Amino acid sequence: MRTFTVEAVVIRTSKYGEGDLLLHLYAPDRGKIEAIAWGCRKPNSTKRGGVQLLNYGLFLIRESKGYYHVEQCEAKESYSHLKGDLPRLLYATYIAELLDQWTEPGYGQPALFQLFLYCLGLLEKGEVPPSLVARFFEAKLMKIEGYQPMLERCASCGRPVKGEVYFSPVLGGVLDGECRRGDAQARPISPAALRLLRLLFRTEPGRLGRVPYSPAAGEEVKEIMEEYIGQRLERRIKSRRVLALVEKPPRGRKER
Ligand SMILES: [Zn+2]
Repeated sequence: MRTFTVEAVVIRTSKYGEGDLLLHLYAPDRGKIEAIAWGCRKPNSTKRGGVQLLNYGLFLIRESKGYYHVEQCEAKESYSHLKGDLPRLLYATYIAELLDQWTEPGYGQPALFQLFLYCLGLLEKGEVPPSLVARFFEAKLMKIEGYQPMLERCASCGRPVKGEVYFSPVLGGVLDGECRRGDAQARPISPAALRLLRLLFRTEPGRLGRVPYSPAAGEEVKEIMEEYIGQRLERRIKSRRVLALVEKPPRGRKER
């Protein structure tokens, strides 16, 4: 049995037993931690304030027999403005869900933590359109995880793209008219959406407010990123399953 303190954000909560919650925390060095906060849903619990979804704070965790338990917690930031505004809250919940789906316990990624905290801060301030914050999070998540799509040159032949341009989630980038024939699922991308997509991957945090943004291009990029991330996530989940099989033989198979 040991205890440790981590700074983390609550990225998911689910009911567990009578008055308890199972928390998914995201911490810079440890990545996702799944921990039970016993009794925190009871009215007199001291943990009540710290365990709310999207709270950023300090958590004292006890590890026992491979399970984690929240002993104490203290919120540093509870993002009260974004939580008081439904559209912003929905976008914040969306990026937290994406982070939760994408990560697994025990693998820290400090850059991802910083990105997430930065996007929550933007949603809290409310100066940048929340949908633009979500698109930025998606693009940087892909970049940090090593899935930056090819956006300047054709992902198939490598030539610079001009004229009609298509996006291929499978090949991971744009295609010119000729190479498009090789991928029936590739979809046309408008010049405005391609410009926005390139900017999202290129722009440094802190400069997002200066990115020219039209909701129509944003909507197109949303659909493209949804397909692209979906493809990558599926592959990742498949490889996770394969890894789990290698590490743990299925039940009923006799070891010799
Ligand atoms: Zn090509």
